[in-house]
Amino acid sequence: MEDIAVRPHLLHPCEHIAMHLTAEEVEKLLDLDELIAEMRDALIALSAGKVIQPVRSVLTTEEPPGWFALMPAIHGDVMGAKLVTVFPRNAGTALHTHQALIVLFSARTGEPLATLDGRVITAWRTAAVSALATHALAQPDARVLTILGSGVQARTHFAALRKVREFAEVRVWSRTPENAARFARETGAKIMDLEEAVRGADVICSVTHASEAFLRGAWLKERVHVNAVGAVGMQARELDVEAMCGAAVVVEQREAAKRESAEIVHSGALIYAELGELLAQTKAKPPQRKTIYKSLGVAVEDVAAARMVWRKSIS
Ligand code: NDP
Repeated sequence: MEDIAVRPHLLHPCEHIAMHLTAEEVEKLLDLDELIAEMRDALIALSAGKVIQPVRSVLTTEEPPGWFALMPAIHGDVMGAKLVTVFPRNAGTALHTHQALIVLFSARTGEPLATLDGRVITAWRTAAVSALATHALAQPDARVLTILGSGVQARTHFAALRKVREFAEVRVWSRTPENAARFARETGAKIMDLEEAVRGADVICSVTHASEAFLRGAWLKERVHVNAVGAVGMQARELDVEAMCGAAVVVEQREAAKRESAEIVHSGALIYAELGELLAQTKAKPPQRKTIYKSLGVAVEDVAAARMVWRKSIS
């Protein structure tokens, strides 16, 4: 075997991984307005066929139940992958339910650029994309926002959605009353029962780990926009079949939605458009009064967000 010492340049790329950005560093560098703009560009590129991105690979553990996913994408001058774990039973412990790392490479030379914490990026990129969907689909005069869930995504959605609409009332429902109360103290949201919180809301974000559908279509007002974020994979549902029926359903990527959304597959709902098509205006706004953005999270969002943070860190 060739002695690696005679080709010292082989070791060179590792020097670039000098960069590891921790969760605290990522948090400091992430700006929500910039992130929303970055997500817009990424989703337009995805829908225009300019991103290489397979549907994620997911491995599961049985006890405790957990998820380990590999999410790669090539986007412009970078390529990378997020490795993410989801362990719902971490809730209430010192560990987060979602933990992730993102590895970023140059798509021009293949050299490694950085590794970054992916937990904070996951928390914010998801909400930034829901903000784009809300901006594109909710009524311009939407006033009542309901958040179902009170965890990490509930908090980032609360911040991101207020960037795109002026809500006069924010409501929260969560399975565990103390957690709803903590969220309400932090945000000023009004705590309500589930049905009460849903009835009359203009915009709803469902951001829970539920596996059984709890958001009933019968409670939705006729003109409503729902960001259905929590249910990822074929075992999870938040919205019942009636909620999905008759809605214009918008997704990040059709291929992923057909493989990863039980809410879409089991209801037989038709996908109206990819969000990138609406943002690029290659597809018109849907005529339906009920709109659902079915969020699953796709790799290009992580890679684009990681590139944005990495560039700021070296500028
Ligand atoms: P957290 O662990 O921070 O919060 C989980 C929330 O889910 C809590 O509010 C909890 O309520 C609620 N919950 C848990 N089990 C149930 C249940 N059986 N019925 C109703 N509510 C329940 O998680 P995150 O906020 O980070 O994530 C929320 C969801 O969003 C997860 O399912 C996650 O997989 C998904 N997600 C989706 C992404 C996407 O891109 N689409 C990206 C990231 C996350 P309480 O505390 O009141 O018990």
